[in-house]
Amino acid sequence: RNSAEKFQFQAEVSRLMDIIINSLYSNKDIFLRELISNASDALDKIRFLSLTDKEILGEGDNSKLDIQIKLDKEKKILSIRDRGIGMTKEDLIKNLGTIAKSGTSAFVEKMQTSGDLNLIGQFGVGFYSVYLVADYVEVISKHNDDKQYVWESKADGAFAISEDTWNEPLGRGTEIKLHLREEAGEYLEESKLKDLVKKYSEFINFPIYIWSTKEVDVEVPADEDESSDEDEQPESPSSEEEGEDEDAEKKPKTKTVKETSSEWELLNDVKAIWLRNPKEVTEEEYSKFYHSLAKDFSEDKPLSWSHFTAEGDVEFKAVLFVPPKAPQDLYESYYNTKKSNLKLYVRRVFISEEFDELLPKYLNFLMGLVDSDTLPLNVSREMLQQHSSLKTIKKKLIRKALDMIRRIAEEDPDESNDKDKKEVEKSGDEDDEKKGQYTKFWNEFGKSIKLGIIEDATNRNRLAKLLRFESTKSDGKLTSLDQYISRMKSGQKDIFYITGTNKEQLEKSPFLERLKKKNYEVIFFTDPVDEYLMQYLMDYEDKKFQNVSKEGLKLGKDSKDKELKESFKELTKWWKGALSAENVDDVKISNRLADTPCVVVTSKYGWSANMERIMQSQTL
Ligand code: ADP
Ligand code: MG
Repeated sequence: RNSAEKFQFQAEVSRLMDIIINSLYSNKDIFLRELISNASDALDKIRFLSLTDKEILGEGDNSKLDIQIKLDKEKKILSIRDRGIGMTKEDLIKNLGTIAKSGTSAFVEKMQTSGDLNLIGQFGVGFYSVYLVADYVEVISKHNDDKQYVWESKADGAFAISEDTWNEPLGRGTEIKLHLREEAGEYLEESKLKDLVKKYSEFINFPIYIWSTKEVDVEVPADEDESSDEDEQPESPSSEEEGEDEDAEKKPKTKTVKETSSEWELLNDVKAIWLRNPKEVTEEEYSKFYHSLAKDFSEDKPLSWSHFTAEGDVEFKAVLFVPPKAPQDLYESYYNTKKSNLKLYVRRVFISEEFDELLPKYLNFLMGLVDSDTLPLNVSREMLQQHSSLKTIKKKLIRKALDMIRRIAEEDPDESNDKDKKEVEKSGDEDDEKKGQYTKFWNEFGKSIKLGIIEDATNRNRLAKLLRFESTKSDGKLTSLDQYISRMKSGQKDIFYITGTNKEQLEKSPFLERLKKKNYEVIFFTDPVDEYLMQYLMDYEDKKFQNVSKEGLKLGKDSKDKELKESFKELTKWWKGALSAENVDDVKISNRLADTPCVVVTSKYGWSANMERIMQSQTL
């Protein structure tokens, strides 16, 4: 078209499109899920705006918030239309030509090597998956603030935008027309599309319709003129019999003809899963719901979930999930990024997915949603963020989240102490499935629990229960504070630990010599965050923590202590003088060593040697 304005794709987008168009990826179906997810997002946006401005939806068909799929077999066009928010010309240029999110180039890199496009939706570039099946795509869009435009591209590095003067007016929303490639003919089959919608879009909260065309046999009265032509219509099986059947004349004369009839057929059940009774939702449904929330369509099941209703002053329903894996960037720039994965709904209306007031930062790895009847609907997001009910919701969510995590451990047969084992022994199958789940959780999200102990004083003890670590007695496995306590020697008052870069190095530490000889258990803390952790975790179940490389280690009094102190008085004095006050605070006789003659100990309130090392590496 002459009037079309031409644009070049951002280089990154071009590269991505090249990869998609040349991809050998076999699961091309994913494009439909991406388009429906975009349509649903656009509908969520207009519905949200309509809360404060009723006019915005318009009247008649325009106000219907639905998604429509249509096929044109002759022209080989598949189109998906929504009455969502639509896109202005500027939106079209920005949203369908550039990549806003960071980290995309890493994704492009990864896709190029792995060829796995399944995670495309997580990277904010799902739209471009249309080029798995189409070689030419038109996006017709009408936003309330602008005219109707057509965006089009053949994925050849450029796209064009024109004011739409030839298509039917959309009223509002977006229609995406896919001109399917030769080999993508299967997407012109209604049955295929119906299957895909069922498979991928089960949890879309707007009705999805398909323009369904059926060939039906209809009985039509055979009028007299036509009955005289009967011989020329051998397809009618009754025509031959008629002469022989004497009753024939009594019956009204009819004939069967093939007719096509088309109608909108609803494909999904829009009852939201979180409104259903948890007892009636299957594990598989939860698992699928998780995948649709996370836009993660791998086979991995979530590690755990919690679906509950809170009643009382503040009413809400929530579903929380522990994902099977931590996203790569979970702990990168932890303190700078604001990103919660909890969606907020108010009375079934989607409000926001970036609502950081619902969960503390350390629980940002959880996925899920909250739907509250108590929060007001017709206020802005900013007003909502200050609503007093949020504090109550947050408190309950944290409680439920920690319960859910504790349950992973409780149900894991690898976790239980021998004495609890009898209680846990249930059906063998279930045990198998839960086996090793807590270690998996710990390896993925353990750091979050530690950050929680640092940040959340209220729940510190609950979180400390979830801690896992190795120790001199854990035999290469993970163990917990409760297990440590159950193994404590009689008369042992403190929980002993040592910090350092790795277990192998710590095992050789002279600080452990005597503790090992006397059969005391010592915890190994080898993560840099552990040093900070131990500044906040002072005690657990009335037991104090004692860093064995620090002053204050007490292993029970020895009767010879006083005697020794006396007889080495001159030597310790001489040492102290020789090392001078700049280097050491004191020189003491100690019972903490077995074979090593002497050791440097940090003062009780000073940094441990390991902390010094961490601080040094940070300032360098
Ligand atoms: P994401 O959905 O993760 O943002 P996509 O590549 O799927 O990434 O879509 C890019 C952007 O294009 C969307 O963020 C949205 O702004 C816009 N968009 C895509 N489809 C539609 C639609 N049907 N209606 C309105 N805007 C859309
Ligand atoms: Mg999308």
